[in-house]
Amino acid sequence: MKASMIDILVCPFDKQTLTLKIFAKDLEGAIIEGLFTCPHCQRYYPIVQGIPIMTPDEYREPALEKPILKRWEGQLDGYKVRNFQLEESSQSKQADEPL
Ligand SMILES: [Zn+2]
Repeated sequence: MKASMIDILVCPFDKQTLTLKIFAKDLEGAIIEGLFTCPHCQRYYPIVQGIPIMTPDEYREPALEKPILKRWEGQLDGYKVRNFQLEESSQSKQADEPL
């Protein structure tokens, strides 16, 4: 996908502006692999082979996304993926515990 498309993409679930991590670009600077995340609902939308996967949860297939997410695991800033949402891994979980 072209970098210029980024500004017009919003979360299909809540229409919030997405943030993007880029993992791979081609020679023209188009994004080949990356991960959109929604700061509002924590959903993630991978870009695989240049195609952003922006379908609603019920049409997504976790098994298809698993291999590529596994490959990106070290680049997710300690977040884990679950039910199409990012969640903080156990090390930083204490801050989220109820009082
Ligand atoms: Zn969202």
